[in-house]
This record gives sequence, C-alpha cells and structure tokens, in this order.
Amino acid sequence: MAVLKHKKLTSKRNVNLTKNICAFVGLEGGDPVDIAAEDNGTVTIKKHAPKCRFCGDNASAVSVMGIEVCPSCAQRLAKEVTENA
Ligand SMILES: [Zn+2]
Repeated sequence: MAVLKHKKLTSKRNVNLTKNICAFVGLEGGDPVDIAAEDNGTVTIKKHAPKCRFCGDNASAVSVMGIEVCPSCAQRLAKEVTENA
C-alpha cells in the first residue's frame, strides 16, 4: 500500500509532509531524512538510514559524536588512535 499526495512547493522550495504520510512511515517532526533526486525527475524522501562515513556500510552503522560509523571502522579507528597516542 502506498500513500500519494499532490503538493506544491512553497516559494522557498519547501514541502510539508502531511501528518498522515508521516504517521504512515513512522516519521516525526525533527527526524532526519535522506532526499534523492534522479535524472528522470523523481525525488524520493526516505527515513534517514545511518551509513558508515568510512566504508559506506549501512547495516550496522550508528551515530557517534555526530559521525556515523560501523563497528568495524570504529574498532580500526580506536586501534590506530590508541597506537599513535
Ligand atoms: Zn565502516
């Protein structure tokens, strides 16, 4: 099932998502989203999925001090920082 809603951009190119659409996908005000634009004119807004800044893994990445990192890269970073301290 999908929810389709016709909306106009504001003069500043903003768009508000309706309460129903947010409730349908589990979004709350202030939640981070990912916005993708494609060559064919499609713009997609999705709930933000954490993605490791270093390797791109998005299955296990978490946000730590504002940086999204996977356990493997976090372990490598910790090792290199500790060894060079
Ligand atoms: Zn990683």
